[in-house]
Amino acid sequence: MTPFLDLKTINQQYREELIKAATRVIDSGWYILGEELKAFELAFAQYCETSHCLGVGSGLDALSLILRGYREMGVMKAGDEVIVCANTYIASLLAISENGLKPVLVEPDQLTFNLNPDHVIHHISPRTKAIMAVHLYGQVTEMDALRRVAKAHGLKLIEDCAQAHGALYKGKKAGSLGDAAGFSFYPGKNLGALGDGGAVTTSDTTLAKIIDRLRNYGSEKKYHHIYKGVNSRLDEMQAALLRVKLKYLDSEIIERRRVAYEYMARICHPDIQLPTIKRPESHVWHLFVIRAKYRDVLIKQLHNCNIQALVHYPVAPHKQPAYQEIAHQQLPITERLHEEVVSLPVSAVMTKEEIDKIVSAVNTCVINSEKI
Ligand SMILES: *Cc1c(COP(=O)(O)O)cnc(C)c1O
Repeated sequence: MTPFLDLKTINQQYREELIKAATRVIDSGWYILGEELKAFELAFAQYCETSHCLGVGSGLDALSLILRGYREMGVMKAGDEVIVCANTYIASLLAISENGLKPVLVEPDQLTFNLNPDHVIHHISPRTKAIMAVHLYGQVTEMDALRRVAKAHGLKLIEDCAQAHGALYKGKKAGSLGDAAGFSFYPGKNLGALGDGGAVTTSDTTLAKIIDRLRNYGSEKKYHHIYKGVNSRLDEMQAALLRVKLKYLDSEIIERRRVAYEYMARICHPDIQLPTIKRPESHVWHLFVIRAKYRDVLIKQLHNCNIQALVHYPVAPHKQPAYQEIAHQQLPITERLHEEVVSLPVSAVMTKEEIDKIVSAVNTCVINSEKI
């Protein structure tokens, strides 16, 4: 079986270095908010070209703490609106709801699956306070136009970079393209820890300082609490492991692109729509997502060829039981996408044989409704 993502093989490439890093943490006797986190934050801020990085417990927490930080700054208050792409992973919405804010769902661009600035304009109301740009599947959103919209309406521009570590937009890194960005280091992400983790990157010093406190019970110094904070800190072990993996992120992206370009060049099927690439450097291929009208047939046939394909995501956020209050919204593009998308395996450790097998299985697939 060719698994969707072979995390074991991916991490085994760095086994010796990871063990050394883990040993260093075990022997240090210091496990939370220490030197490893500081060193990782410095390295990741440098990598993302921002003034600050704050390691937190998860990608969801990173996004949520950005919004919470803005609430503490008085930039937004309960009931205010945040514009977000309707086809994102539910975590983007959860971060908004968690802060008593209202997610305003906007249909994605049909080709890039990302926010279209022209659509965004029609959803801005007096209560809108921010736009959350999700760089879905690893491709950066059209940020120049979004920044213009945000600026014209006095909105914060937040990036959900959970799938886009290392992507470039006009020479600048994802994570530095808005006012603040949230990253996830969930093991399956392009920069994955060996457990949960996340980070905020920003060049806003006020926001960074507030999030630094919020993540640590809202304390300015020990036992002195200025916010009703949370406990959400990237621990020393994950920070040390991520310092190792960050060194290889760029070379892994090159390998992912290699796989993606093989698929782009060789997959040819009348019933399959390949992804659209705006600029090569703006896509880091967290997921290689194709569209097929009868996608369940395709997935089944791939499975019969020992290939694991997945769906990101099978149900749109507004159709989830958790979001009953917005279930009535008409979002036909989003709903159709959720019925048609299929993700093919893509990683830095795939062999030529695996790629060949996948290309030929996809190309010879018989896709029609009778097979369902
Ligand atoms: C993974 C992901 C998140 C959440 O990250 P976690 O670390 O799993 O909490 C948020 N947004 C998007 C787009 C993601 O893919």
